[in-house]
Amino acid sequence: MEILLGKTAGFCGGVSRAVKNSEKDLEKYKKVYCLGELVHNKEVIEDLEKKGLKIINDISEGKDRVIIRAHGVEKSVYEKAKEMNIELLDYTCTKVLLIHDLVEEYAKNGYYIVLIGEYEHPEVIGTYSFCGEYKSKINKVEDVPELINKIKKSNKNKILVVAQTTFNGLKFDEIVEKIRESIDENVKLEVNKTICNATTLRQNEAIELSKKVDLMIIIGGKNSSNTNKLYDISKRYVENAIIVETYKEIDKEYVKTFEKIGIMAGASTPKSSIDEVIKFIES
Ligand code: SF4
Repeated sequence: MEILLGKTAGFCGGVSRAVKNSEKDLEKYKKVYCLGELVHNKEVIEDLEKKGLKIINDISEGKDRVIIRAHGVEKSVYEKAKEMNIELLDYTCTKVLLIHDLVEEYAKNGYYIVLIGEYEHPEVIGTYSFCGEYKSKINKVEDVPELINKIKKSNKNKILVVAQTTFNGLKFDEIVEKIRESIDENVKLEVNKTICNATTLRQNEAIELSKKVDLMIIIGGKNSSNTNKLYDISKRYVENAIIVETYKEIDKEYVKTFEKIGIMAGASTPKSSIDEVIKFIES
């Protein structure tokens, strides 16, 4: 049996920074709140909780110090924290912060902002709050006709399109193409493909690996958007693909039937989980 591990598997720069800094904060302050799960990984969260991390779902449940994870948060969170005298330990990924600044600036300059991403994803909710008054969230080509109607009603003749950092690049291009075809000639369209490089590289590598193996194992949280995308992408190129959070979910008998196994992991998966999976398969 041969195991091929993706070079880009595991924590991305933004998540790695958030986890490392949170660990330092926990050493220093012993108890720190975190708005939402720091990463979509049960084992990492349990470990941090043992060290004093307390997950909250709303800033109003926090006190003293609250960690902001790499996804970023809504504008109102900064305002509420100020009112409540809460210090924010802000580990919003710098790439996400750049998108916040970009959409805010364009909205001020009279643009209609179109954010392509999953509506309920925390990063999208956060970014959307910086998009000003004239804005829409869409995530598929079929959403474009309604979007065009809304833009017409707004009387805006300048549009900026951006993406959630972990959105599928091919799907983004398709949606943009449809928007381009549907707008009037006098409407200016600016597109900033704000998909993170780390995501693109990982997705491309998943494609290449899937073409070479009989089974793809994607390691990551089942509620992690980028992990699920790696699974969807892999399934297009290899018949057999599974998602597991830890090695404990792997069926030894099933895995034994394959000769070449590819391994990829989402941005919230620590190296230790990847190593455990490899050790388990090798055993
Ligand atoms: S995927 Fe990219 S944008 Fe998102 S947290 Fe990681 S490095 Fe930042």
